[in-house]
Amino acid sequence: MRYQYCPKCGGKLSVEETKDINQPQCTECNFIFYQNPAVGVAAIVIKDKKVLLGKRKGSYEGQWCIPCGYLEWDEDVYDGVVREFYEETGLKVKVKEVYSVLSNFHNPKQHTVGIWFLADVIEGELKASDDITKVDYFYYGDIPKMAFPTDHVVIEKLKEEGLIL
Ligand SMILES: [Zn+2]
Repeated sequence: MRYQYCPKCGGKLSVEETKDINQPQCTECNFIFYQNPAVGVAAIVIKDKKVLLGKRKGSYEGQWCIPCGYLEWDEDVYDGVVREFYEETGLKVKVKEVYSVLSNFHNPKQHTVGIWFLADVIEGELKASDDITKVDYFYYGDIPKMAFPTDHVVIEKLKEEGLIL
């Protein structure tokens, strides 16, 4: 998102002083508005060599993704992925390890850094909710239309490494 006005005083933001589009400065109070990517977290759950995907509503409606969401302010990254996955799938997971970290540039208004974790289900019943209308496990050959290019990168890696079939 490119903002035009200072969030502190409402003055006009300008890049004349900093010469950096990512650091516009307020022409009234000199506040520098640093812009950085947000952090997205996703959990990879695999069962019988199939990967769990969710069908989206809202943004990228009807397309699928590895269940994911944005980290909240002041939220630990491991807590964030457990929360998001539970909200969307009804399953509580335990994170095993970081599987992949990639920059997402598909949305020019909101660059993000995505972190994909491998996770095990510990409890709960699979049920789509929140931003997801359907959840299911997929073999590589049946992967539906995905919303994000980086999910494809991750799925290719899962396939190459034999985690999914
Ligand atoms: Zn200002």
